[in-house]
Amino acid sequence: MLDTDHYARLGLGEIRDKVMAGHRLSYDDGLRLFACPDITAIGALAHHVRTRLHGDRTYYVVNRQVNYTNICVNGCLFCAFQRERGQQGAFALTPDEMVARVMDDGGVPFSEVHIVGGCHPDLPLEWFEDVIRRIHAARPSIVVKAFTAVEIAHFAKLAGIDTEEVLRRLKAAGLSQLPGGGAEIFAPDVRQRICPRKIDAEAWLRVAGEAHRLGIGTNCTMLFGHLESEADRVDHLCRLRAQQDETGGFTCFIPLPFLTENSLLKLPPERVGQHVGLDRLRTVAVSRLMLDNIAHIKAYWVMMGVKLAQVALHYGANDLDGTIVEEKIGHMAGSDAVQAMTIAQLEDMIRRSGFTPVRRDTHFNPVEEARA
Ligand code: SF4
Repeated sequence: MLDTDHYARLGLGEIRDKVMAGHRLSYDDGLRLFACPDITAIGALAHHVRTRLHGDRTYYVVNRQVNYTNICVNGCLFCAFQRERGQQGAFALTPDEMVARVMDDGGVPFSEVHIVGGCHPDLPLEWFEDVIRRIHAARPSIVVKAFTAVEIAHFAKLAGIDTEEVLRRLKAAGLSQLPGGGAEIFAPDVRQRICPRKIDAEAWLRVAGEAHRLGIGTNCTMLFGHLESEADRVDHLCRLRAQQDETGGFTCFIPLPFLTENSLLKLPPERVGQHVGLDRLRTVAVSRLMLDNIAHIKAYWVMMGVKLAQVALHYGANDLDGTIVEEKIGHMAGSDAVQAMTIAQLEDMIRRSGFTPVRRDTHFNPVEEARA
């Protein structure tokens, strides 16, 4: 599969050699990988790297998402989740409701709660500190993974303090990890068109770096399949890689395909249609190949779709996320995946794809080796 002549014929001989030697790929290499029509050749290279890093292990986590509000001041064009206050479908959970969701584990204790929401116009930082403290006190054993860099910047703006201070205070309340959302695409022209009120790339990366320096790990994402070019995707990956070189705290990268349903952002015709699945697989594979300093690549089944997420495990991904329980952001955008997966379903999905399931915590430490 990794036949030298085949890669030479594709014009990827040098890239193949770099991958085999464990050398870093350049921005131009990333462009060439996106341009190559032989997707199985790209996938095989990515699978080689994934296997070198993780063998046949595929990770999942027993987790619970809590989306606390969809009321948001940003109004990103692509977002099907956002509502204005008072608009039909707008919701905001109370702290009691959030704690109740974390307490309700259906007999399967979560090891992680994943909390994200819109940038609410007036919920103050103290409200979030209080919620995190209460969740942490109610369930001290679970990792609280909460608030994207965009939310952190929003809390800072409302409080009139800097983002580092927000992170310090939330960490003191019990926050351990930030999810990776809000990165979208860093290219300024596209970012300006799809999410003009959101913090820019420099601010997103700065908040991630501040978290890393405070010992708070973060994930990172890329929203793709909208108005961005392949060059924008490679640029995005290179910027994440450079940040990781500097501060080292990215745990996992999650490529997020843009889901078109209920979105105000309309795609150009060439972006709609039968090549979407291949584009998603190629993006997972190129991400694995470019991000040589980020250990884990997630095929997020909610956004990727369950079937394609399984295939993505052969294109460089080594994690599927988890049980989720209840998810609003992807489903309001048209995800046709189920709301929740059981442990048995996740393990079965992994085994049927030819891998060994490993149940993990937020930091990718195995918490219970799945039965063979
Ligand atoms: S993507 Fe996030 S910040 Fe943008 S409108 Fe939706 S909830 Fe708000």
